[in-house]
Amino acid sequence: MRALVTYEMKPFAVEMREKPIPEIEDDEVLLGVKAVGVCGSDLHMWHASHSWNVLYPITLGHEFCGVILKAGSKVKGFKEGERVVSETASYICGQCVYCRSGNYNLCPTRQGFGAGRDGAMADYVRVPARCLHHVPDHVPFEDVAMTEPGCVACNAVMELSRITPGDTVVVMGPGTIGLMVLQMCKLCGPGKLILVGTSKDTTRLEVGKQLGADVTLMADKESVVDAVLALGDGFGAHHVFDCVGISAALKPALEMVRPAGQITKVGWGKEPLNFNLDHLVQKAVTLQGSFSHTYKTWERVIGLMANGQLDLAPLRRTFSLDNWETAFKTMDSLEIAKSVLIP
Ligand SMILES: [Zn+2]
Ligand SMILES: [Zn+2]
Repeated sequence: MRALVTYEMKPFAVEMREKPIPEIEDDEVLLGVKAVGVCGSDLHMWHASHSWNVLYPITLGHEFCGVILKAGSKVKGFKEGERVVSETASYICGQCVYCRSGNYNLCPTRQGFGAGRDGAMADYVRVPARCLHHVPDHVPFEDVAMTEPGCVACNAVMELSRITPGDTVVVMGPGTIGLMVLQMCKLCGPGKLILVGTSKDTTRLEVGKQLGADVTLMADKESVVDAVLALGDGFGAHHVFDCVGISAALKPALEMVRPAGQITKVGWGKEPLNFNLDHLVQKAVTLQGSFSHTYKTWERVIGLMANGQLDLAPLRRTFSLDNWETAFKTMDSLEIAKSVLIP
């Protein structure tokens, strides 16, 4: 079978290889991959600018769905021919306090597809049955492949934050996650929904408007903090979602959030902060991190997709698996939010 492999911690050390179809264990299924999303983290591994461990050589791809071709003898609840989407933790210990209390996304030994174990940018992938969710027939595979970023957004907005209808809400960063966070916020009935990017993000900010942003701002062209304070009642935003991959974004977030407001940090950034956190204290702000997702988030997002409550078409473009390089480059150029590969 075809498999897109990253083989070394070196820029552009990614190539299509021929590999045997994987053998499955008793508690696993063999999935015929139907669609797999390219993640920002895949682009980082392509550029070798990532900060996490990768077990080289490894097949990329952790945002995927497909059809079950074979089910191991101990698999319950899933059978051949069914359409499914997979969660991203290829390994969890099952024994620690997080695993046992349902927060297995926080298991310290968690490993992901496409980093710790072969992923799904391939014709086939083996998947533990505990990762699987059924998906309704009417949701197209290219949408289903975006369940995972949808879950990241859903966890941040619907599970960890408390938006009340009428709130002023700011989403910083119009990447895939930012745009999906924006959609999740819209579903919660904000009074003003503001999306922040830069002048490089013209296309993605337009998509944001299509998806429900009331106002879009370019951080390199205007004072975002002043603009946010001028909207609503002048006290600032009830909620700020930081979906930017730069640590410095926390500074304007702390300046534009209102007293007793909430900042949810979804974006990663390797640079240290070089400013004080007095606003956090003085305004009694709740600052929280949001990472990954669990079973109930997946079921909720699949439900939102099935009900037609998420609009995913403006976010993505599909490419054939063989055309992976164009897919990576197009997404890297910020022309589109998400490339989806079809094997
Ligand atoms: Zn991802
Ligand atoms: Zn564990």
